[in-house]
Parts: sequence; structure tokens; C-alpha cells
Amino acid sequence: QAAEFDVIVLGAGAAGLMCAARAGQVGQRVLVVDHADEPGRKILISGGGRCNFTNIHAAPDRYLSQNPHFVRSALSRYGAQDFLELVERHGIAWHEKTLGQLFCDGSARQILAMLLDECAQGQVEIACGAPITDVTHADAQFRVAFGGRVARARALVIATGGPSIPKLGATGFAYDLARRFGLKVVQPRPALVPLTLPGDEALFRGLAGVASPVIARCGKASFREAALFTHRGLSGPAILQISSYWQNGEAIGIDFLPDEAEGWLLAMKREQPRASLRKVLSARLPDRLADALCERLGMTGDLGNLSDRVLSAAAARLSGWLFHPNGSEGFAKAEVTVGGISTAELSSKTMEAKRVPGLFAIGEAVDVTGWLGGYNFQWAWASAVAAAQAI
Ligand code: FAD
Repeated sequence: QAAEFDVIVLGAGAAGLMCAARAGQVGQRVLVVDHADEPGRKILISGGGRCNFTNIHAAPDRYLSQNPHFVRSALSRYGAQDFLELVERHGIAWHEKTLGQLFCDGSARQILAMLLDECAQGQVEIACGAPITDVTHADAQFRVAFGGRVARARALVIATGGPSIPKLGATGFAYDLARRFGLKVVQPRPALVPLTLPGDEALFRGLAGVASPVIARCGKASFREAALFTHRGLSGPAILQISSYWQNGEAIGIDFLPDEAEGWLLAMKREQPRASLRKVLSARLPDRLADALCERLGMTGDLGNLSDRVLSAAAARLSGWLFHPNGSEGFAKAEVTVGGISTAELSSKTMEAKRVPGLFAIGEAVDVTGWLGGYNFQWAWASAVAAAQAI
């Protein structure tokens, strides 16, 4: 005998819990099913354990999707301020770190506890440690078999996220299920992920641990934040951000001197003709990085003895140093996934599948990916609320 609900939410992560709480609080009978032993594991490790739960600059231009306008409706109806009000109502202390990123003062556990409390207020049933063995759809009812039980509902919400960090229980289940319902999936790839460097460029690995503020560029995208050299290649916020835009085979340009205007090196030659490039660079960059760049530029001797042409060429390389990543550290290390259930299949107002009434997809499972900095959780909250309102 199947247990009766109004809504079954698959996935007890950020989006699933938010959607369940909202639907439950307006009187819907809600069941959440998750194969992990505990809900919200990504919330717990997010933001270094402090959960960067939103960003006050959340707006459509901070998201990647094949349809860049898709996020507009949901974000405009549930923005960063709305989530912040919820956080404050639960007495959770928070602070703005940088670039509009809001974090808990205490722990990410507080955000999870808040969501579970909201679910309890909506009498939501949460079934964890329950592998989903079957999902069927007939007579406008969805039937889900999980952990030896069966439940039925007229609405089904796919909120099982993307495949980044499988060791936390992440899977591509959302995509498989969507395809079974005939929905297209935009090819998923790891995003917000460190990039690896090949052969010659791997020489930079000797700098592992060195960080410096840069502008990272790929195509039309650019980010001014810190880059970090690693044993395998490049990381740090600037690189994680640009990784979401990077495709195999593309080069990445790094401006190591984002504060220097064009012609700065020629000006240095006039001011300090006796200084070496090494000296002027190490006044601006970490010593080891200055050494490595000078070595690769093959430039020794005083600036005064170098021609303007040579110095201009060196300055140009320093402000657009090309790296040719041969890959990324993959889903094992990716904070999020670019791609997912195609937005063309969904209503941007309700997140409901256009061809399957009653089927909804929210959060990271959808082809919407935010920048680093709280944007991904904000999408999870906003898409969840949009779906819950429609349900
Ligand atoms: P998830 O939160 O991943 O939830 C999906 C749920 O579905 C999980 O509970 C999972 O167990 C369950 N599930 C998966 N497969 C199955 C299956 N086959 N059967 C049943 N259940 C299944 N974003 C920010 O905005 N700020 C941050 O500070 C931040 N920090 C992060 C740090 C790390 C290390 C990582 C990996 C991500 C971080 N993110 C951050 C991204 C953010 O965690 C995700 O974008 C967000 O969790 C997506 O929410 P979701 O509900 O769609 O998916």
C-alpha cells in the first residue's frame, strides 16, 4: 500500500529542504527522500563550515545557463534579502565577508538546523538513508519506491543536485530521471574547480602554495581575485570562478599586475634605471612568483640597459600570461556543476516541466550555475520557493 502525500521531494539538500518547508507550511503533505544518512551534507561543509548562504549582489548576470534570463523571475521573487530575513528570524548571527558574501558567524549547522526547523513547522516527513529504487508516473500521480517503502503524490520535485563531490553522496540521478521523463539535459561539467597544467607550464608547480591577486580571463569573462599555485596547477577564487567559463582546449590569461597601468614598466625604467626587473616585480608580487616570472621571461640586468621594445613586451606578457590548462580536478573537487536539466524544459516562474505537469526541478540539478560567493545557495532557495508556490 502506497503512502499518500501531496508532494514528494527527492533530495534533502538546500533546495529540497527549502521547497519542502514552504510547501508544508501552506498545508501540503510533504515527503522528502534522500539516500544519504543525514540531510544537507553540502550545507554543512559549505563556506569552510560557515556557509556562505547568499550574496547581496545576486542578480541574473552572476549565473551561467544556456538561457541567461531563466533565473530572473525566481530571483526577483525571492532574493538575498528574503533569505536574510529568514536567517535573522532564526536568530542566526551573520557577517558580510567580502564582495557581498554573507556567512554565519557561528556554523553552517545553524543554516541546516533552521531549514529542518522550518520543515518541522510544515510537518514535513524526511526519510534519509533511503535509496530510491523506482519512480513511475501514471494517472497524474507519481509513485516513488525507496528504502522498502512506496509513496504517491501528484507533485514530484527533483532536488538531488549535481554530481560534484560524489563522496558526499552527490550523483547524476537528477539527469537520469529527467531523461526518463523525456527532458533534455545540458552536458554537465565540473565548475568552480581547480585547473591542472600540462608539461612545460607545470614548472609553475614549484610555486605550490604561492597566492597573488590577479585578473583571470577566459573569453569575455574576467575575475579580479586571488589566484593560487598548486602542485597540480592553479586554484584560488579567481581560478575557480574562471573555471566555470573555461572549456577544454581554451587558454586562460592571467594579469599578474592588475594595479599597474599600461606603460608602467617604461616609467620604472626612467625612474629607476639601475633596478632589475626582479627588484621591481618583487616590490609588487610574492618573491617566489617574481623569481619564476623573471626566469621565464629570461630577463636579467638593469632596466636601463633593456630596450623599450623588450620592456613593453615583458609588461604585456605579465598582464596577460597565457596558461593552457589540460583539464580540471574534476567532479571530485568541483564545488558545483555547469549544465544540468535544460531550462528550455522548465517554466521559469514555477520550475515545472512543460511536458510533464506535476514534475518540478530545482537547485543545482537545473542548468543554472552561480559564481562563487553564495550565489549557488541563493539559486537553491529561490528556485525552491518558486516551485513551492506553484505546488
Ligand atoms: P544538494 O545540496 O547537493 O542536495 C542534493 C541532495 O540530494 C543531497 O542531500 C544528496 O544526498 C541527495 N541525492 C543525490 N543523489 C541522490 C539519489 N540518487 N537518491 C537520493 N538522494 C540523492 N554554495 C554557496 O552558495 N555557498 C557556499 O558557501 C558553498 N560552499 C560549497 C562548498 C563545497 C565544498 C561544495 C561542494 C559546494 C558548495 N556550494 C556553495 C555549492 C552548494 O553546496 C550547492 O550549490 C547546493 O548545495 C545545491 O543545492 P541542491 O539542493 O540543489 O543540491
